[in-house]
Amino acid sequence: MLIDTHSHIYLEEFDNDIDDVIKNAVDAGIEKIILPNIDFYTINKMKNVKLAYPLITELAIGLHPTSVDANYKKSLDLIFNDFNVSEYVAIGEVGIDLYWDKTFIEHQKTAFDYQIELAKKYNLPIIIHSRNSYDEIIDVLKPHIKSGIRGVFHCFPGNSNQAKMVIDMGFYIGIGGILTYKNSNMPEVVEKIPIEYILLETDAPYLSPVPKRGKRNEPAYVKYVAEEISHITGTPFEEVCKITSDNAKQVFYL
Ligand SMILES: [Zn+2]
Repeated sequence: MLIDTHSHIYLEEFDNDIDDVIKNAVDAGIEKIILPNIDFYTINKMKNVKLAYPLITELAIGLHPTSVDANYKKSLDLIFNDFNVSEYVAIGEVGIDLYWDKTFIEHQKTAFDYQIELAKKYNLPIIIHSRNSYDEIIDVLKPHIKSGIRGVFHCFPGNSNQAKMVIDMGFYIGIGGILTYKNSNMPEVVEKIPIEYILLETDAPYLSPVPKRGKRNEPAYVKYVAEEISHITGTPFEEVCKITSDNAKQVFYL
């Protein structure tokens, strides 16, 4: 059994064939799919997927860093005003993205910090988006580490030393399709850290692993990531599935 810890299957890319996508996932041995939120407007779409497929899906709630702008306080209010903690397994996705736009860097930091506080308050893990912002993420996160905050660096962006540091801080490393790309440094990371700290993810509909690269990604394809980890580490495929699923169950209390 496998767990896709990061999948946006509530987006319009899946409007026409979500039934098939879920069926493919079940056929591929996926037991859980975690859906991280993006903004206020995606909450209902996400909840509808949960209603239609309640056993295989779990939800996370948060404001994505690329949705943080000058009105971020209002966005946070809209998202968390009606927030029922029992509906969610994590706060996410949250963090800082300096790839697309640096205009709102200070707003992004404040929104991230605010959502870390919520995660602490409700004892939820955080799903961190850290594109081109590794140092900024660590700066915001560090003062909270003593509180026992836990979570995952989704689509881990760093090298093996940074991965070790993140693990020491109590976090897991999210590994997805990039592991299978030529010129990726993720194989080196996977070689040097124990599988006990890896979570599998797709980031569907984005970042499809080889041999599906360039096509829409979907939860079933997380098996290709598990196969690549098996190949790189010499760990049997079934063991990679079991260990990474146990990791996900531990961090998200599944
Ligand atoms: Zn995402």
